[in-house]
Amino acid sequence: MKNKKNYYIKTNRIFNTFRQYGWIITVLVAIGGLWEPKLGLIVVFIMAGLIATSFFGGRYWCGNICPHGSLFDKIILPISANKKIPDFIKSKTFIIAFFLFFMFNFIRKIITISQHWGTYDIFDKVGALFSNTYLMVLIVGGALAIFVNSRTWCQFCPMGTMQKISHAFGKFLGVAKKTEKKVTISNKDKCLNCGKCSKVCPFQLTPYLEFSDKNQFDNVNCIKCNTCVENCPVKILSLEKEKLAS
Ligand code: SF4
Ligand code: SF4
Repeated sequence: MKNKKNYYIKTNRIFNTFRQYGWIITVLVAIGGLWEPKLGLIVVFIMAGLIATSFFGGRYWCGNICPHGSLFDKIILPISANKKIPDFIKSKTFIIAFFLFFMFNFIRKIITISQHWGTYDIFDKVGALFSNTYLMVLIVGGALAIFVNSRTWCQFCPMGTMQKISHAFGKFLGVAKKTEKKVTISNKDKCLNCGKCSKVCPFQLTPYLEFSDKNQFDNVNCIKCNTCVENCPVKILSLEKEKLAS
């Protein structure tokens, strides 16, 4: 990859209505939770949503619904350094180590909180745990977004890892194969090899180098955000389900 310094393009990301304003939920839960801990209970529904959607469609949540993703792409991207995401942050070793570290701490705190089970305090305690976690992601993920790349945190986000686990179950049971949409190229011969699909990709993936013999991009980290689809100069990309007959 030549000229890495200016390789990635800071293009507008694609926003549905929820993603346009989802960042408000992040601020509400992370900051508002300091005064009203029960706001953190919203995160329980967010976790249920991301586990369910990933079972059927991979990391769709990250590119279309995630409130933190909305914050990173809508609010922070304009001031982001937009640098190359360091390879070690994307490595399996780092992702697994961070996931285990996160889960160990999370479960340890849940066990402590469980002493309040059966009292009204439990809602405040659990809510505070989630809202503090949201605040931590806002601070750490936000700093990485400003100084490195808007989606740096997402490379090792434990919720992203949980989605990959849920997606693996969906694939194992043969469900995701029928329901998941993937970036699809209509005709490989028309590809200019310009790399723009990679240059605009929030995760710095390389769809044009990885299309399968079914003309699909199978990378488990694709967040189905449509940015490459909208930016391909010859409009040969789309998000499609796998054609099982082909
Ligand atoms: S942006 Fe389109 S034409 Fe360019 S490399 Fe990607 S798929 Fe090919
Ligand atoms: S490959 Fe395309 S759809 Fe997937 S994350 Fe990158 S820009 Fe989004």
